[in-house]
Amino acid sequence: MLFPTTIAGSLPKPAWLAEPGALWAPWRLDGEALAQGKRDAVRLALFEQERAGIDIVTDGEQTRRHFVTTFIEGLDGVDFERRRTVRIRNRYDADVPVVAGPVARRRPIYVDDARFVRSQTARRVKYTLPGPMTMVDTLFDAHYRSREKLAWAFAEILNAEAREIAALGIDVIQFDEPAFNVYFDEVRDWGIAALERAAAGLACATAVHICYGYGIKANVEWKKTLGGEWRQYEATFPLLARSAIGQVSLECQNSRVPIDLVALLDGKDVLVGAIDVATERIETAEEVAATLRAAARLVPPERVQACTNCGMVPLSREVARGKLRALAAGAALARAG
Ligand SMILES: [Zn+2]
Repeated sequence: MLFPTTIAGSLPKPAWLAEPGALWAPWRLDGEALAQGKRDAVRLALFEQERAGIDIVTDGEQTRRHFVTTFIEGLDGVDFERRRTVRIRNRYDADVPVVAGPVARRRPIYVDDARFVRSQTARRVKYTLPGPMTMVDTLFDAHYRSREKLAWAFAEILNAEAREIAALGIDVIQFDEPAFNVYFDEVRDWGIAALERAAAGLACATAVHICYGYGIKANVEWKKTLGGEWRQYEATFPLLARSAIGQVSLECQNSRVPIDLVALLDGKDVLVGAIDVATERIETAEEVAATLRAAARLVPPERVQACTNCGMVPLSREVARGKLRALAAGAALARAG
């Protein structure tokens, strides 16, 4: 079947689990109630995706507060009591934890969550993890004093986690690397190698997601500086085409990314962002289909998947539900010709 549908990863959380519309929203439950609440939210995220007709589903990232930090909280070597201010992706300042010693994974982090989502659906499941470079970019490193060395340590940790997740029967493991759209020299020098290390030897498909971020103010301001054409992918895609990563998830809908850049992803599955997550307006099926058809003229159609530009966690549940339906309807329309 052409144009299978999937999402970048996250969906909004129910209001009883966390404050709607907020990134990093604190949990509204704790203890066993929180554990049960997370599982119920995963069930709802699956229900919404399946009812909308999404083919390759995720847990909606309902079990984590933040796509990078929640993973890092499970590791040794990072001191969350000490905070330093750093500039994230050259865009905005944030108080971040400090790498105070060797980083290590003493126990599985998302493996139980991945086992649960696998047990709750018969559809193909994608599981998302942060990428090594993006992890480095959310911390102050007082130990390794080298972004490359820290990324390599994270890549080995991610690989151990990903191997256990893949062994559960998860179909795709995706690493989120928005930092790949910012640090082009580092991507070339060590970013791709660290990503490949994280994805080495997995018994499932592998993907990388690279985007222009949520519709938050810092990102909207940053996008204004990027000019009439966003060509950031031009530096990275040829390197990814030669890499061992199987799928690339990118932003297209309503962006200024020239669609012809997808042709640089020779041999890869291309997860075409056909849903804008930075606006509440719900795309029409025709708009989604037009984006998919444009990509399918540049790469073999059987390599095109219909996806969202990025995660939908900041949106309302109603808007996200509408966008899921638009994605499936648009893919069906494109499939019809
Ligand atoms: Zn994204």
